[in-house]
Amino acid sequence: MTNNSIWWKSEFEIEDINGIEFIVQIKGGERIDYDPLNYAIPNKRPDIPSGQIEIAPHIALSRIDPDSKEEILRFVNVWGLLGLRDTAIYGNKETIINIFNNHNLELNYPSTEELYNNNKRRGGERKREPLIVIQEAVRTFQEIVQNISLYHEDEGLIKGIRSYKQQIEFKKDVIRREDVTNQTYKGAKQKEARELFNKDTQSFITFESLNRMLSDVHPHVFADTKNHSISKGWRFKSLIAAIYLRVALDLEEDKKIIHCKWRKCNKLFIPNRPDNQHCSDACKDNEKTDRANQRKWLKEAIEQYNTHPTNKIEEAFNSLIQEGVSGRVKILGAIGKKLR
Ligand SMILES: [Zn+2]
Repeated sequence: MTNNSIWWKSEFEIEDINGIEFIVQIKGGERIDYDPLNYAIPNKRPDIPSGQIEIAPHIALSRIDPDSKEEILRFVNVWGLLGLRDTAIYGNKETIINIFNNHNLELNYPSTEELYNNNKRRGGERKREPLIVIQEAVRTFQEIVQNISLYHEDEGLIKGIRSYKQQIEFKKDVIRREDVTNQTYKGAKQKEARELFNKDTQSFITFESLNRMLSDVHPHVFADTKNHSISKGWRFKSLIAAIYLRVALDLEEDKKIIHCKWRKCNKLFIPNRPDNQHCSDACKDNEKTDRANQRKWLKEAIEQYNTHPTNKIEEAFNSLIQEGVSGRVKILGAIGKKLR
């Protein structure tokens, strides 16, 4: 039996209050409780990419476009508010002032309590979150998850650094390696060595950020006197903390979060099977069509520019695909320019 904290969801909308956009609960909206840590990857992947939003809150949060108000609203309407008020970072007034300043806005609320609560609404409907703070939290989360997916393959980095002493040692080591790199290596070798320690530093920073967010959760044990057993679970006061915890638990359970292989999607998801490389049937179909088109366009290009060597045409073609150029007319035109 699990004994995790629960979160709640409802229906939300965007409301402009004194020049600041907030996500607020729709009046009279129903409240539904759920366990944000409990999820399973369905045996069949979704038909369309947006189906991934329904699978789990951490998957949804890694996929939405933080610049799109509609996608943020869609997220909260599926999983609820992030609970930012009750986090060490976003419940901190200094953090909020900085976020507001970056948007040339002044924080006209005496405390974060008043920012995150609308006293004009009745008890259960008071909770609200400013859109710009949600967007900031989403960007930070996505950066961390992207980096984790990058470093997931590297065993040593996942093990992390256990003590404060090890942290200091690590920092010294990075500085020492940076000096050695600059003095010992030149040219390509220097570049290679730099990339190596940059990867270490990046992963260190990533896991430091993850751990900072995990400070908002803790395990909880209680005795079940009736059944003479011990029950344990996780305690958290916000959805965002539960989401970061889920990311950490997935790492431990070796659930891999990967990018969808379809280049125009490229969004994160957790595959149901190791050989699944696409987040939805639609993405797989799109890639198949795209590959067929590419073969057709390359054939056409070779015919059209037959005065040029085939390998040069292929080279130009591949580099254009890499750049993300698509469409028959665009590709054929761009190849012509490259060959000139
Ligand atoms: Zn996809």
